[in-house]
Amino acid sequence: MVRVNENYTLLQGSYLFSEVAKRVKAYQQNNPEKKIIRLGIGDVTQPLVPSVVKAFQEGVEEMAKKETFHGYGPEQGYEFLREAIAQVDFQKRGISITADEIFISTGAKEDTANFQELFDTKISLAIPDPVYPVYVDSNVMAGRAGKFSHGRYTNFFYLDATIENNFKPEIPKKRFDVVYLCFPNNPTGQVLTREELKAWVEYAHKHGSILLFDAAYEAFVEDPSIPKSIFEIDGAREVAVEFRSLSKTAGFTGTRCAYTIVPKEVKVYTKKGHALSLHSLWFRRQSTKFNGVSYPVQKAAAAVFTAEGQKEIKEVIGYYKENARLIYETIASLGLPCTGGKHSPYIWFKTPMDSWRFFDYLLDKVQIVGTPGIGFGRNGDGYFRLSAFGERQNVLEAIDRLKTLSW
Ligand code: PLP
Repeated sequence: MVRVNENYTLLQGSYLFSEVAKRVKAYQQNNPEKKIIRLGIGDVTQPLVPSVVKAFQEGVEEMAKKETFHGYGPEQGYEFLREAIAQVDFQKRGISITADEIFISTGAKEDTANFQELFDTKISLAIPDPVYPVYVDSNVMAGRAGKFSHGRYTNFFYLDATIENNFKPEIPKKRFDVVYLCFPNNPTGQVLTREELKAWVEYAHKHGSILLFDAAYEAFVEDPSIPKSIFEIDGAREVAVEFRSLSKTAGFTGTRCAYTIVPKEVKVYTKKGHALSLHSLWFRRQSTKFNGVSYPVQKAAAAVFTAEGQKEIKEVIGYYKENARLIYETIASLGLPCTGGKHSPYIWFKTPMDSWRFFDYLLDKVQIVGTPGIGFGRNGDGYFRLSAFGERQNVLEAIDRLKTLSW
């Protein structure tokens, strides 16, 4: 008899998406003539842009010839990609991040889930609610959760993002070792201003905390008063780690390429108070458990950071942003309090009935699939997320259908 890792038994199952799939399938079986529009999943729909495809193909061609073939690459990622990222995402924008502080990976999901391994199992954690569920679940797997009671784990401190605080969690009075932040937020689409993010960096300095900042949706931010990176804030280099991804930025959800920035200044401490570099530890972790992203994918990723690549991805982001604007305005016109949709592909709104009843209502009345907010945390109950990743034609049709609703 082999004993299980009991921490896994505390996980709350991926009930949400399987339940969504089950209900949609049953509806389609009973109503085969009805066209369902899916605005539920946070997956992109537009193909890779031409300069990325060209570089990807060239990368594959190189792999086909003895002289240009690549085997294992550097664990941290090829320098050509890390340099391109350091320059385009940071240095050209006046932010001091160097190529050796960037770690290439297959996804921000992996990195946000794995990063907690570097911390003691007893650390105190603050995690937003609602938020991308990986932060909670990866810490549950690691044994930090305590018990599950009333929709929450007893050992985590939840940073409430509610309609009352405009979905911007208040800075806790108490000290927490590690704080997860996600802006633009999934699912609320909410963002922080420079001043608001600065206050989090000050909190981390005051308490000796570390901020794990997920910037997976930074490409949707265009307003210069909203930071795209936590490293735009003075002092963040000592207290923050940032996760970025090409998934939503450049349509890499299936291709897989992301990157994590660990500045050399961030420190963690042994029981005896000896300081260790988080950067060195993450390097050690990655070189032990990860063997890099494939060469053609990294070559394709580097094309995102060329002038042509940047222009092309901006057009695609613009397309999704216009979808988001259209959906947001329609939801607002229905009188439902909503947020997001501007610096984010997500529109988050209060439902006129509970989340699952609203899910069935939307499916039944107008054949639109969205995501019940409860899947992102207890505060998501009574909320709903629509995603702007979709074909314009479908979005326009969805809008016409939504406008017919009343309750
Ligand atoms: N972080 C957030 C906030 C997300 O919403 C997602 C995906 O939906 C990810 C990370 C995962 O990104 P990746 O595709 O790079 O694993």
